[in-house]
Amino acid sequence: MRIAVDLAEDGIIPRDEAVMRIAPRALSELLHPQIDPEAPREVIAHGIAASPGAATGRIVFSSTAAQAAKAKGEGCILVRPETSPEDVRGMQAAMGVLTERGGVTSHAAVIARGMGVPCVVGVNDLRIDPRQKTLRAPGGRIFREGDTITLDGTSGAVMAGAVPTVAAALDSAFLRLMEWADDLRDIGVRANADTPAEARVARNFRAEGIGLARTEHMFFEEDRLVVMREMIFADSESDRRAALDRLLPMQRSDFIDLFEIMRGQPVCIRLFDPPLHEFLPQDREATRDLAEALDLPLSQVTARVEALQEVNPMLGLRGVRLGVTMPEIYEMQARAIFEATIEVGRRGAPVVPEIMIPLVSARREVELIRTRIDAVAAAVRNQTGARFAYKLGVMVETPRAALRAGEIAAVSDFLSFGTNDLTQMTYGLSRDDAGRFMSAYVAEGVFAEDPFHTLDLDGVGELLLIAAGRGRATRPDLTLSICGEQGGAPETIAFCRAAGIDYVSCSPFRVPAARLAAAQIAVADRRQNGESAEGAA
Ligand code: PEP
Ligand code: MG
Repeated sequence: MRIAVDLAEDGIIPRDEAVMRIAPRALSELLHPQIDPEAPREVIAHGIAASPGAATGRIVFSSTAAQAAKAKGEGCILVRPETSPEDVRGMQAAMGVLTERGGVTSHAAVIARGMGVPCVVGVNDLRIDPRQKTLRAPGGRIFREGDTITLDGTSGAVMAGAVPTVAAALDSAFLRLMEWADDLRDIGVRANADTPAEARVARNFRAEGIGLARTEHMFFEEDRLVVMREMIFADSESDRRAALDRLLPMQRSDFIDLFEIMRGQPVCIRLFDPPLHEFLPQDREATRDLAEALDLPLSQVTARVEALQEVNPMLGLRGVRLGVTMPEIYEMQARAIFEATIEVGRRGAPVVPEIMIPLVSARREVELIRTRIDAVAAAVRNQTGARFAYKLGVMVETPRAALRAGEIAAVSDFLSFGTNDLTQMTYGLSRDDAGRFMSAYVAEGVFAEDPFHTLDLDGVGELLLIAAGRGRATRPDLTLSICGEQGGAPETIAFCRAAGIDYVSCSPFRVPAARLAAAQIAVADRRQNGESAEGAA
């Protein structure tokens, strides 16, 4: 990269040629420490490379142990059969994350990429037993809590012991190259960011706003989780509203933070998406603690937890279905967004928030939610006398929403393709279980690549084209974007650009590579059309 940039600065090659010489994936590697290519290593297993970079640390088997290790200043690797939202704080505390199950869009993978934490998932050859606190490698070798391992989230390797790494290399050549790329590209690049830390990374990497802020993670902070659970256990709408009233100021401050960090850039906030039982305890001990905290009989708490279980939660009561059946949750979120908008506007950084409805499959869902959110906006305007604008859009992540995009666009300001769920539902392939057979499927040539990693242009891509065409036929100025994990991959960016999509949104650490890839695609296209390159020295 330095050589290419120097040659362009000296006028030996044009800038667009320098931009063309760097592989976007190699650029991503520069942003994270990597395993020293010369270093000896003992690989014990291979999994799916879910979040790039190398990490060394002592094994811990629980989120609590990871947080304790961090408090003592010790680097650890969080090792879990799979992760759930309860593990997020442990993931934040760990140097790296390793899971036995999962694929590139399973929980561990998505969260780790957002945080920039190296992660390997779907390591089928390992047996992880969190109760016994053991990790069994092929051949029977046992690793225990406190043993050191190294992960390579770039290749998917899991190694015994500490393996030397080389540091991330961000320098002025990188910044210069990125400037040139931005002059050349013609598709927008935003970031998926939920926390202030992620938003800061997004801002530093010059994302042009947030394309997806997943709000549910905000409720896993300890103080909020308790109130969230009270809300879930409320028997009546008024009790639910009382709990939500306590969550409102916390949620408002989340949005104030995001708006302030992004300083006037667009922020697209997705309303609450997961099934409610993700917020409930998983085992008996935690259920007992919860019963105590809520001052309810254990039997009642257990019954409620069981009642909320679903056979197939990803296709169950989540997303807009919660919004329709428990309107007060989205109403609280909308109020928090509007109040934050007013507050940050007063501080001198006007924002036009974008509110996104997840898991839509019918126009009527959007109409119902829009009516209620408009009513909240009117109430907030009345109460405060403030003026503000907002946009309301839909996440296209069910095949039906893609097919019915024409009528959905009539009631939406924008559509954003959630290609994680859209891939899951188009293939009928679970995001969380695909890792079990994905490598066999790719090896047998059934799938050319993991469709959760590289967008399936033939199938999922066709749905995307249908939706884009039908949406724009209804509303020619409809903003279109993609916010699934594939959004950062060069092949996806090329496809989206050709489909007339306005911007891609990907995890913050993938933003530089996406900016570079977008520039390369534009340059290649212009060259093919015989146009002279803009931005050339
Ligand atoms: C998606 O489904 O593509 C998406 C971006 O949302 P999530 O990963 O949170 O389901
Ligand atoms: Mg989704």
